[in-house]
This record gives sequence, structure tokens and C-alpha cells, in this order.
Amino acid sequence: MAPSSSSPASSPSTSVPPVTTTPEGTTVAPPPPEPSPTPSPSSALPRQFSLTDPSSPWLVVNKHRPLVPADYVPADLVQPAVAATASGESALLNSTTAAAAEAMFAAAAQEGVAMVLASGYRSYGTQVTTYGGYVASRGQADADTASARPGYSEHQTGWAFDIADGGGACSFQPCFADQPAAMWAKANGHRFGFVVRYPWMFHPITGYYYEPWHLRYIGVEAATDMVNRGINTLEEYFGVEAAPGYL
Ligand SMILES: [Zn+2]
Repeated sequence: MAPSSSSPASSPSTSVPPVTTTPEGTTVAPPPPEPSPTPSPSSALPRQFSLTDPSSPWLVVNKHRPLVPADYVPADLVQPAVAATASGESALLNSTTAAAAEAMFAAAAQEGVAMVLASGYRSYGTQVTTYGGYVASRGQADADTASARPGYSEHQTGWAFDIADGGGACSFQPCFADQPAAMWAKANGHRFGFVVRYPWMFHPITGYYYEPWHLRYIGVEAATDMVNRGINTLEEYFGVEAAPGYL
């Protein structure tokens, strides 16, 4: 369900009560309509940020929605003070995401969960190389299931990163979902503004199979709202079309 499409239209049969006349012959105007006792989902979280600007935390990039410009570079890349196996550009995030990651990693550590930044920012040029490598070794169809095409990756925005477990078990493999870092991030990430961007069995909407390691920042309010309303994908939450494959 999308915030923009979940408000039912009011029924015309009940919207205008008839004007009534008292026994004294004076006309009484109908009372004003009762305010709705509960705000609709769309009014609970007013749209604050762009879905298309790459510098917006609500950017939706998927196989139907490339970055514009394709070679976008965040202006505020920084290296978060967290444990990392990533190095070079992949150790960077945009400044908002970096601060949220620092808070989340620290909270996880306080609860005894070791989390590692495995891959953060990835430039357009790096994505050209990464995707090209997959195409060369596996063919384009298979490459498209494993790697975003250049200009289509959340990693290029600085809003997303991959985590690994402190012990390094099951990195970038399906069994990572059962590791402490993944379970903790799935249960607690929203408190720091993160969602698991490619959840289990939602590839017909997101275009990617389950990636329990890939976290995306959208802000605490929106991430918590998604959890509370049981919405699993950004496509559904923001009311944009499903993107199972490239157009
Ligand atoms: Zn990722």
C-alpha cells in the first residue's frame, strides 16, 4: 500500500446532510462534518522529500528508475567511524548515512553484536567495472540478477551499504540472514533510519533477490512507519511501480 493511494474517497451520499427546518420555521444549517478520528496513512507522514533527487533520503532507484545524472557523485562523502573491511571509496557514505551508521553500529556493539561495513559508496566508474565483470563471466541476464547496471545502483548514492558479521561468516551469501549482525539489523535498523532494501521474496517488486546485508537509509520516521505498517519495499511505500527488470 502506498501513502499516496491508500485514502478512500469519501462517499458522496453522506457528505452533505440536508438543511432542516425547525417547528418554529427557522432554517438550521447542517452541522459541520465531524473531523476524521484517525488520520489517513497519507496524512500521517506528509511527503517531505523528493523520490527522484539523488541527494534525497527518499530517492527510489531501481531497474525502472536510473540515477539522474547517471554519473551522480554525492557532495558529502565521508568515512564513518565504524569497523570496516571496506577500503578506498567503498568505505565512504554520504554524511547523513555515515552518522546513522555510526549510531547503529555502536548500539549493536552495546548489545554484543559485532557489525562490519563491507561495502559502501561505489562510483559510476567502479560500477562499470563491476557490472562488466559479471557480464563477461556470467552473461548479461545472470549479471542483472547479481549487480546493478551503472547508474542504477543504490551504492552510487551514498544512502546504502552492505554489512558483514564481525566473524565474517556467510558474507554476501543467503546464510548471512541467520548471522547475528543481519538479525540485529533487520530487527533494529529502523530505529536508526535503515531498512533491508531487498527483502526475502520481494524480487518481483524490487528487482533483486534477498540481500540481508544491504541496508538503505530513509530516515527514522519513514523506516519506523514502514515497520509499523508492515510495508516491505520502498516501491510499495512510496507508491511507485514495481521494477522486476530493466525496461
Ligand atoms: Zn549492497
